[in-house]
Amino acid sequence: MVDALIAGWKETSLIDVHGAVTFTVWFCGCNLRCPFCHNHRLADVEPGTCRWVPVRGGEGSIEGALSHAARFIDYVHVTGGEPLVQVGAVAELFRAARELGVKTSLNTNLTLTGPLKELLSEGLVDHVATDLKTPLREMTGITDEGALRSIVKSYESSLKALAENEGVVLELRIPIARNLTLRTLPQALKELEPILRRFGDRVYVVVNPLLGPPITDPRNREWCERHCWPGEEELEEAYRIVVEAGFKAFKGRLPVK
Ligand code: SF4
Repeated sequence: MVDALIAGWKETSLIDVHGAVTFTVWFCGCNLRCPFCHNHRLADVEPGTCRWVPVRGGEGSIEGALSHAARFIDYVHVTGGEPLVQVGAVAELFRAARELGVKTSLNTNLTLTGPLKELLSEGLVDHVATDLKTPLREMTGITDEGALRSIVKSYESSLKALAENEGVVLELRIPIARNLTLRTLPQALKELEPILRRFGDRVYVVVNPLLGPPITDPRNREWCERHCWPGEEELEEAYRIVVEAGFKAFKGRLPVK
């Protein structure tokens, strides 16, 4: 029996995959420590946040809950944290979804290429959502040059692996941080463009404002005071840059604080 360390699930969600209804599961644990992360308590597995749950079985298992929701959803969506830290549990859940006739969606930071390829080799993934974190140093809080290069290499290798799998649709999310993202976005898109073009019409971009308190609970509040809540003009400018680069794009809205 495979167990997953999760914070919980939501039977039907309208906000986790663009334009789709999902059964969303929050996996605990992450290999990064982004300063803006609003799921940091489960990413860091803080006491009282996470519990072990059987993936398969009847009542009480994730599969049991998914089977009740299957008729009403487009995808089972796993997010976190970083779900690929628990690739065995994700694979088991996606196999269960396949048996139920439900499509699968993975939200990942794309730095764990080996585990990602395990899922792809079994044909278990239909949709992937990932952030384009730019500028990478500020958005991850990592200062070591070698570690940053390694993240870029893994991210690009993962994107290439996804591009080669013709069944996979990519949702590239760009979190817009105030006074940060616009500095490097054009260059970041330019560098990724050769890989992103390989997806053809299987890629779309969602430009999202990076929200902070009182709507979210970021890991680093001081960082968020400086860079969360971008202005409408920054969002518009980011959206314009993405569209002019030739990508199909959607723009998230700024909620009222
Ligand atoms: S934002 Fe994502 S990748 Fe970064 S720490 Fe949070 S869960 Fe991990």
